[in-house]
Amino acid sequence: MGGPALRPLVVLGATGSIGGQTIDVAKRLDIPIAAIAAAHASPELVALAESLPDADVYVVHRGDEAERLERLAGSRLHFGSGSVTEVAATPDTTVVNGIVGFAGLSPSLAALYAGNRLALANKESLVAGGSLIKHALADGGGELVPIDSEHSAIWQCLRGEESASIRRIVLTASGGPFRGRPLASLDEVTVDEALDHPTWDMGPRITIDSATLMNKAFEVIEAHHLFGVDYGAIDVVVHPQSVVHSMVEFVDGVVKAEIGFPDMHKPIQYAITEPARAAVDSPPFDLAGQSLTFERFDLDETPCLRLGYEAGRAGGTAPAVLNAADEIAVAAFLEGRIRFTEIATVVADVLDLHDVHEPGSVDDVADVDEWARAEAERDIASRRA
Ligand code: MG
Repeated sequence: MGGPALRPLVVLGATGSIGGQTIDVAKRLDIPIAAIAAAHASPELVALAESLPDADVYVVHRGDEAERLERLAGSRLHFGSGSVTEVAATPDTTVVNGIVGFAGLSPSLAALYAGNRLALANKESLVAGGSLIKHALADGGGELVPIDSEHSAIWQCLRGEESASIRRIVLTASGGPFRGRPLASLDEVTVDEALDHPTWDMGPRITIDSATLMNKAFEVIEAHHLFGVDYGAIDVVVHPQSVVHSMVEFVDGVVKAEIGFPDMHKPIQYAITEPARAAVDSPPFDLAGQSLTFERFDLDETPCLRLGYEAGRAGGTAPAVLNAADEIAVAAFLEGRIRFTEIATVVADVLDLHDVHEPGSVDDVADVDEWARAEAERDIASRRA
């Protein structure tokens, strides 16, 4: 690729799906990886540390493979939860945050305060910590770019445009495995049915969140923060083929979309190379023989999506509660403790109990997160008492 050399990468959540695909992209484009970080010293992390002999390795918990990792990585190895936040502040890097869960927020803030480019896949950073991220961006001079396919699409559609020109953002949603099925018929859905996503292969929580549409609810909130667009100007449309990754309608009626066959390597690569594009050998994009379909959503039939708009509009700590209660409810569903349709009712109950306020720090958000988890557990226990 021409142009200036790309900054070295710090890959957080290196053993996860986004982390792995980021490392693929880095190897293909010959981008140096300064550091990798993961929650546990797992066999996967040992293998990564072996294949990336120049990268520092950051681990939160020691885990089963700690001793093997110590022998292999030696002085490259750093343990402790603070170490992951510290490495996100490595100057002049692009930090890819593929951490799953609330633990991703502090490293995101550290990256932005250090003036780095933050390529964000961690949902909690914007959903739970939206206002904190905004302050970090303003104070640190860092840059926030999305990795999620929908937000990457919108970002690309907005290149060269002014925000005053946006009329509406249209997020596409595959609709998940239960698309078109009435809510009333989803009471008896099994864990296996819910885990069977038609187009994207992802981890268990995000797959369930795709089936309930909670994932799309989070994406609506993220789009609001990323692009500064009011909730009334963010629509969601069902598009089962996942070829149109999202669209922007402008004030003159022109609509731009970003399209292609689903492959997360593309948005990850763009988040790293933007404003440049790096050439990749890929089969020609051919729409011949494909039919693309779109359907409207009924918010009465998709309670998690409705809750997302409600929590987003309530602002402050409400989206953090939405996220934390959902994580507990999804875990309870996966363990067979509640029905699929109860995920939404648990989350709604916890949101109802919450006094929304503006969080001042990560600790504030963490307190709310902890409160919401405890309330969700209480709500779930009371259902089977
Ligand atoms: Mg997405």
